[in-house]
Amino acid sequence: MESSLIQDNPLLLPVNKEKTVYDGFITVQERDFRMRIVLPPDRQLKKAKLHCCWRLKHLLRGYEQIVKQRLRQSTHLVSFILELKTVLEVGLKSRPECRSVPSPQYYSQLIAEMETLGWDKLLFIDTEFRTLRLRAEDSCGREHVLTVKLKSKHPAEAPDCSADLPVPLALPWTPQSTLEQLHAHFLLVLESLTQFWDVLDEIDSKTWILEPERPSRSDTMRRIAIGNNVSIKVELDPRHPKMLPECCLLGAEHAVTPLRNKLNANMHSWNPDASVLLNLRDVLEIQFPSPATHDKSSFNVECGICYSYRLEAAVPDQVCNDPRCGQPFHQACLYEWLRALPSSRQSFSIVFGECPYCGKPITVKMAAHAP
Ligand SMILES: [Zn+2]
Ligand SMILES: [Zn+2]
Repeated sequence: MESSLIQDNPLLLPVNKEKTVYDGFITVQERDFRMRIVLPPDRQLKKAKLHCCWRLKHLLRGYEQIVKQRLRQSTHLVSFILELKTVLEVGLKSRPECRSVPSPQYYSQLIAEMETLGWDKLLFIDTEFRTLRLRAEDSCGREHVLTVKLKSKHPAEAPDCSADLPVPLALPWTPQSTLEQLHAHFLLVLESLTQFWDVLDEIDSKTWILEPERPSRSDTMRRIAIGNNVSIKVELDPRHPKMLPECCLLGAEHAVTPLRNKLNANMHSWNPDASVLLNLRDVLEIQFPSPATHDKSSFNVECGICYSYRLEAAVPDQVCNDPRCGQPFHQACLYEWLRALPSSRQSFSIVFGECPYCGKPITVKMAAHAP
């Protein structure tokens, strides 16, 4: 118990041999609070006295009864301190004005760093001057945003950085680092991904993308329309974007089988020097419908059960295999529909039944989220 008290609160130490008086600081949400605990000779917590600094007192206002009760009920000092910290965390959350305020040097440091970086890079800063959004342009003219959350001990502590990227963002930081260096490193990360975005920009501009609805820079998957109810889902490796991507053909069996055979027969001729779109076209021996040649409405065929195209994020990707029918359904809709029919049967996660449109056999695999 003793060791974990010191481990959890290295700044709170016994000041006498009997270990009845503890003095020092407890740390909650990066803030240190001065406190002193005086225990009776038998070290029973119920008769302990707690002395708090004024800031701690202010934060505990309204929680005094809870703290007293906890002090009486706790068997060990370490568990009491843990509960006190929980109360303080709640207190800090409900009183934002008590959150740690950076030192005056923090602000002069921040302004000096922004001067060197250039104010034109600043898209946004919050009222506490803690969260910054910096703009960055890659060599192909694409705009990116780097979100930087500065710690109150900036620059001694590394800031939290995030951006819309297909790979985890890890930017180096030392106590001597500046925002300008951080920004420069971010530009290097962007450069390592330009080929990946080039590949996707070409696909996005020259084909009809069914999913995701609005691709972001971090999305590595595209579902590309091939024809009515036939599409291909490609998953790119952001580090090797020009290699053969993971492909999955979606649609009725009679339409998908010949495409799958071509893909298997031709994938050895994939040329990593040519564009992914060109390769896909050659390997599948097809022309992708593009915004120049087709209207998107020809691919957004609604679900035959709920009569909508998008159900939450899902699009109708289950298609009746009968060539004369070919009606698409949402996976969830078809699953619910077939399960409700007494003539259907289920084997593990697959339900066998009849197409609600033409009555021919149809199967559906249980959606991951279905009950
Ligand atoms: Zn539906
Ligand atoms: Zn059918």
